[in-house]
This record gives sequence, C-alpha cells and structure tokens, in this order.
Amino acid sequence: MDQHYKLLTPGPLTTSLSVKQTMLKDWCTWDADYNDIVQEIRRELLQLAGTTDEEYTTVLMQGSGTFSVEAAIGSLLGPDDKLLVLANGAYGQRIATIARYAKIAVHVHDFGETKPVDPQTTGQLLQADPDITHVALVHCETTTGMLNPIESIIPVIKAHGKLCILDAMSSFGGIPIAVGELGIDALVSSANKCIQGVPGFGFVIVKRSVIAGCKGYARSLSLDLYDQWVTMEENHGKWRFTSATHTVRAFRQALTELHDEGGIRARNARYAQNQRMLVDGMRELGYVTLLDDTQHSPIITTFLSPDTPGFSFRAFYDALKVHGFVIYPGKVTDYNCFRIGTIGEVYPDDIQRLLQAMLMVSYTDE
Ligand SMILES: *Cc1c(COP(=O)(O)O)cnc(C)c1O
Repeated sequence: MDQHYKLLTPGPLTTSLSVKQTMLKDWCTWDADYNDIVQEIRRELLQLAGTTDEEYTTVLMQGSGTFSVEAAIGSLLGPDDKLLVLANGAYGQRIATIARYAKIAVHVHDFGETKPVDPQTTGQLLQADPDITHVALVHCETTTGMLNPIESIIPVIKAHGKLCILDAMSSFGGIPIAVGELGIDALVSSANKCIQGVPGFGFVIVKRSVIAGCKGYARSLSLDLYDQWVTMEENHGKWRFTSATHTVRAFRQALTELHDEGGIRARNARYAQNQRMLVDGMRELGYVTLLDDTQHSPIITTFLSPDTPGFSFRAFYDALKVHGFVIYPGKVTDYNCFRIGTIGEVYPDDIQRLLQAMLMVSYTDE
C-alpha cells in the first residue's frame, strides 16, 4: 500500500490511513449509532462554517459534489425565480448548465478563465436585471486555481437583496469562509475535498429561513434538498434513501483529524506552504504559472505546458506516476497546460520529492 501514488489532484485526494481504516466496518443506514454520527457531522460542519444551529442547518446529499450543487440550485429556486451565474471557469459554467436542465431562468456572465469575478460588474449586472433573485458563484475555481474575492463580491449581492449560493467545493475546510458574517444563503461542498474524506456524498450549509420556504420547489425526487432536510431533522440524522455509510464514517474521522491538525487555519497554512514550495520549485525549473500569485488559491495550480517540441501530457503524467505522483490535466480553453493539486494528505516533504522527480522525468513521446 505504501507503494501507491500520491494524488496531486483536487479530489478525490490522498487520505490518511486512519481515515481509510474506519471503512472496515459496515453500518446500518437507519441504526441509531450511525444516525448519531450523521448528526455530529451536521453540527460540526456548522461549527467549521462559524455559524450557529439556530440560523443555519446542514443537509447531506448522496453523490459527488455536482449532485449537491444540483440539489441546491434545483431546490432553492422557485418557479418564478431567476439565477445570475458569475462564471470564470468550468465549474461556474456547470452551475448554469444545471439551471438550464432544470428549466430555471438563468443569466450567465463569463468573466473569462484568467480574470477574477469582480464586485463592480456584479453590481452593474444586478442593477440591470431586477428579475434576478439568486446569484451563484464559485469560491476556488478549480479549473485554474483562481480564488474569487468573495469578501468583496458577496456584500454587493446582499446589498441588492439577492440570495447567494456559493460553490465552495474545493475550498471549504482548507480556506476560512465567514459564512454567517457574509450572509451566504447556501454553501455547497463535498466529502472528498479539503476535509479529506473519501467520495460518496456532498453537503449544503443553508440558512434555515431560506430552506424552510422551499417546499415543493425541487425538480428531482432524489435531489430534493428540502425533503432530505426535513427527513434528517425529523428522524435525527436519517437519510431518505441508502446513504454512503462507509464514506460517512470515514468523514467523521476526517473531521476529527482536521480538528487535531489545528482546524481550518492550520490546514490552510499547510496547503499554502505546499503550494508556495511547488510554485517556487517549478519556477526554478523554468515552468510558468497561468495566473498571477495574487489571484491564487493554495488548492491547485495551473502551469503552462513547456513549449518543448514533442511535449506530451500523457508521457509526462506516466513518467511522474512511476515516481509515485499523479497530476491533473489542464482544463483551460485557450492554453495548453496542466494542473498540480496541493491538498489532501500531502506535506512539504512530498512536494520536495515531486520537484526532484520533475528533474528526472522525460515528457516527450519517444
Ligand atoms: C470538485 C468540484 C465540484 C464537484 O465535482 P464532482 O466531480 O461532482 O465532485 C464542483 N465545483 C468545484 C469548484 C469543484 O472543485
């Protein structure tokens, strides 16, 4: 098992052995011990968000992160509501696609993949279209690694009296987010990103006053966030349909380990150190980052592919895998690039070994 590669990807990511070991037991989906674990998770997620159980609630949802985004969009907007999506990458665009599938009125503003979402434009868009009721955006746009400045954008959304849905999939648990202070109405994330659990479910941290008014809005039975919430509340941690029991148990352990590491701030410091070391080392080797350092999250970094004739991402990927690292292909439309994640059970020592491996690998198809 120690020979297995480290995932330098934005989730699923490398988890600790102790998280994996908790999955060696089977749990009954409606057993009280298991449901207690669910309730603990729901409470602890509120603590991580810096909110109270009076104002906010957590709903867990089966599936990958996108299922939870779809559950939030499809359940929180009513038939007459209109969504504004502030997009600067594939995950923002995915929110718009979800809205179109659900036949929800949607306007997408595309800032371009290398520009942050900005508060001035956000204000102008809201001024121009009074039909908009909800605004959705991505915190860390995993497409590039861009960190959108939510501290200046969300106050504009709130000043216009609109509801805010934040895709914090790749940042929650790894970057502090003042959910209550900013007045975020719904925040979506998943088990297998910065909290360092395994894949299988996502969650929505939502204002009680908001979700309480959403009965009957859902466009899908299995993704009905309101109904899932009511079931979890009334039955003390029960899910409507079979839940990802092993994943839930592993997530409980992952939360304990986040706490033991020193909480979100300590984890953020480790990720930032990983990313700083990665960028400095890669620059020494001649690689160029897509984004300015000021725009960057500590989560994942996009590097331009070298212009060496015959460069092949596949060859580069395979060579690094032999050295024990799995990297990520690029996802940006206009540039040839690749990505390296710095989250999960990954430490500065691992980054040091990666940089050494970079010196040894050949990345052309010969
Ligand atoms: C990972 C991620 C998602 C969800 O992706 P899944 O593949 O469905 O888990 C959504 N938004 C962002 C920003 C992400 O990083």
